[in-house]
Formats: sequence, structure tokens, C-alpha cells
Amino acid sequence: MAANRIAGLRVSRPKSFELDKCDPGDTLGWHKETAVAELGHVKIELDNVQQRLSAEHKRSLLLVLQARDAAGKDGTVRSIFSGINPAGVRVTSFKVPAGREADQDFLWRVHMACPGDGEIGVFNRSHYEDVLVVRVKSLVPRSVWSKRYQHINEFERMLYDEGTTIVKCFLNVSEAEQTRRFQDRLDDPTKNWKFREGDLADRKLWPKFNKAYEDAIIKTSTSYAPWYVVPADHNWVRNLAVAKILLQAMKEIDPQFPPPEPGIKDIKIV
Ligand code: AMP
Ligand code: MG
Repeated sequence: MAANRIAGLRVSRPKSFELDKCDPGDTLGWHKETAVAELGHVKIELDNVQQRLSAEHKRSLLLVLQARDAAGKDGTVRSIFSGINPAGVRVTSFKVPAGREADQDFLWRVHMACPGDGEIGVFNRSHYEDVLVVRVKSLVPRSVWSKRYQHINEFERMLYDEGTTIVKCFLNVSEAEQTRRFQDRLDDPTKNWKFREGDLADRKLWPKFNKAYEDAIIKTSTSYAPWYVVPADHNWVRNLAVAKILLQAMKEIDPQFPPPEPGIKDIKIV
């Protein structure tokens, strides 16, 4: 049942896709108390599979998190990866490209941040910014951004062929919940740092971002790098959903401990 809920979030090679049809407030039939407890169990399983992924040292996993401001990308990372061996997790937050990043092609910085053998890589924003904010704010001409979907698909295919399992989650927050969270960021001095005035400019472009997200999801949901649209108005739903998506992908990799060195079974430590 629970697995089906997760499968239902996956967008499989769609011809059309409308974000308005996805409810950001969906609880997926879960209840808060049990979901919080279940997240604890999922994290223990994640830690176990991660140990195997790391020991095997042959394959990797990339989790891409995309969302509007205040949907909870940072909170998702904190919630899921606390308690998991930090040595095996590489989190990268992508900001406005600066310096050398801005001078190179859009995938340059992304490629360098991809997980190596045995690692879980987490992208907090990603190369998708280059077909989202860049498109919505016309930071490059249409003739440039419109070709990027194919470049992204080919890049992700290459990563997949080289041993990286990719899962992409769009954390879907509603406008009303974003309003509440922005206000909270303004009212709570410990959260002021999370708020930029520019966030309001992005918020005004909500319908344009909607269209850009829909196009990105339609054009880049592939069998080898699927998108999941995760309801994000309830943090506890969002956290458990992403954790389960991640665990499922890790289990599909099914990493194995490497065989022992020949002969070590006979060694007795004296
Ligand atoms: P935050 O994730 O809230 O710290 O903000 C990072 C900001 O960087 C967001 O406003 C993103 O839209 C922006 N950003 C990330 N990548 C790019 C990119 N490739 N081009 C332009 N802006 C970007
Ligand atoms: Mg921000």
C-alpha cells in the first residue's frame, strides 16, 4: 500500500502534465504520529543500504531536489540525512552561478558535484535551474534554454550508463503555504536569514514557474531519471515520501558487500 503511494508520485514519461492536478496538501493516507515513527525506521534501513553502497564502491545515487522557495529543500536534507554516515553523503546547494561557474557551460559545475562510486549525492537545486529560473527570467535567450532539455536527458543518461541511479523530486508547495512560511521567516528572528526580498519577485512569477516546472517534468521524466512530484505542504509527509523514494531507489541498486580477501577466513588474531 505504502509503496503504491510512492509509485503514484512518479511521473512516467508523460505527454502532458499539470501541476494544478497535484495536491500539495495531500497526506497520502498517512497519519502524522505513525509517519514520524516510520521515518525513523526508513532512516535505519537507509543507513544500512548506504553502508553497503559505500563498501561495494561501484555505483552511486543522485537525489535531485527542486522546489520553490520555502518548500523545504533544506529541511528535507536535514530530516533524512541526520543519522546517516556523513562520509558517504555529498550535499551540494546550487546558487546563482558565480566566477568560473558562470563562464562555463551550465552542466560544468553540476558534473563536478556528481556523486563518486559509493556515494549518495544530493542536489539542493540543480541543473534544472537552467531551464527554470533562467527561462522564467529570460537570463539566456529561448534558443539557448530550449535546447537544454535534451542536453539534460543526454547528460543524465550518461550518468546512468556509468553507474549512477538518479531520482528527482519536485517538492510541491502551495502558494498559501508559501505565504505562511514567508511570513514566519519575517516574524521569527532565527529565520530572518532565510528570507530575501528577491523571493517576492519569484513569487509574483508563480504561473510562469508553474509552466516551466511542467515543461521540465514533461521533457525530462525518463525511465532512467524519473521525476516524483512530492506534496510538500506538510513537512512530515514530504520527509517520509522523499525518504521512501530514496530507500526504494537504493534497494533497487541492491549494493553488496565485497567478498573478503582470499584466505582471511583462516586468520586468527593472536
Ligand atoms: P536559495 O536556494 O534559496 O539559497 O537560493 C539560491 C538562488 O540561486 C535561487 O534564487 C535560485 O533560483 C538561484 N540559482 C540557482 N541556480 C541558478 C542558475 N543556474 N541560474 C540562475 N540562478 C540560479
Ligand atoms: Mg531562498
